[in-house]
Amino acid sequence: MNFASMISTTTLEPARQLAKPGAHLIASVRGSLPGPTLLILGGIHGNEPAGVLAADRVLLRIQERSADLRGEVVLLRGNTRALERKVRYVDADLNRQWTADNVRIGESGNGGRPEMSELLEQGELLVALREVVSRARGDVYFVDLHTTSAPGKPFVTVGDTLRNRRFALSFPLTIVLGLEEQINGTLLEYINNLGAITMGFEAGQHEAISSVDHHEALIWNATVATGNFLRDDVAELDDCRSLLKRAGGGRRVVEVRHRHAIRPEDGFQMEPGFRNFQPVRRGQVLAKDRRGKITARETGLILLPLYQKLGDDGFFLGREVKQFWLSLSAVFRKLKVGHYIHLLPGVRRHPLNENFLIINTRIARILPLQIFHLLGFRRRRWIDKHLVVSRRSHDLAGPTKLVL
Ligand SMILES: [Zn+2]
Repeated sequence: MNFASMISTTTLEPARQLAKPGAHLIASVRGSLPGPTLLILGGIHGNEPAGVLAADRVLLRIQERSADLRGEVVLLRGNTRALERKVRYVDADLNRQWTADNVRIGESGNGGRPEMSELLEQGELLVALREVVSRARGDVYFVDLHTTSAPGKPFVTVGDTLRNRRFALSFPLTIVLGLEEQINGTLLEYINNLGAITMGFEAGQHEAISSVDHHEALIWNATVATGNFLRDDVAELDDCRSLLKRAGGGRRVVEVRHRHAIRPEDGFQMEPGFRNFQPVRRGQVLAKDRRGKITARETGLILLPLYQKLGDDGFFLGREVKQFWLSLSAVFRKLKVGHYIHLLPGVRRHPLNENFLIINTRIARILPLQIFHLLGFRRRRWIDKHLVVSRRSHDLAGPTKLVL
């Protein structure tokens, strides 16, 4: 079957409303057999309706096949008030406020700021997520659907745990490792650290119809990758996989190695013409700011070059990770080599958390980044003049019961 023939929606502006305020649940379909829970969220950014539209497309067909379904598939809307207004957010970015502290503030009466739209959204979404997670009897998977302002090939982002990687590798797409670790307060990280297997997906440009197609293809692919459906239950699977492969250019893993952070006063400006994942060589001029030219500090791939006005990331530099390194890092992690990394010069364990390391940069400066990346320590933060690197929890195994 030709994929195009299955597409029912021909426009991105359907007559029906995208969201009513507070209506986060699109639908949940429970199978007749036990199995995993797959949560799919569209529109956590209100100007990214493609994920919600794709969820609407697949819903009926998933319901029709519920006899073959194992576990549960749940489709959710993210920022309902922003979706209704077709804006990224109303008061604040809903995908930057999922820290443990914030969640607690939200629960204790929105911190005295009930007027803030996204605190309301966060509270409602938490209730919806908890309801689903509390009845989960198997692994919980969470997929967050996004689109970008600039056109580009679809790709996947994952926090670097072996469980996330295994899931992401079942999609014929570029997988970006370490991008999520550059951003604070994402829902993906919050849920991942509680023990769900998580993945983000960037489907293409916000308004492109192809973005809805990519989201739809990804959802079908996900229902099989999780084990909710068997391959034979999803007649669309092969078409979906070829569509993703064609659009995304096939499977590969790219890791983020450098982030060029910017502030408004920098006067940052990208050189024209860079595309996401375009190869660049060391020394090549990528952008300029008020201090002068900004060149690539190493040869690799440029990721997410900033051509819109807003943002704190000028660009990222990454490079492809070969299968050998992925396998090596999996072996190291299964052997729990991370337990001994504090034996390296200038590296010490955090007294309270085994997923955090404190680095003395004067001593450890010569250690290659790769050692930390191999073991999943990708997030870097400066706390009181110390460099703290951390990895995600639940690298090898999930919790016995996920509690939100
Ligand atoms: Zn987004």
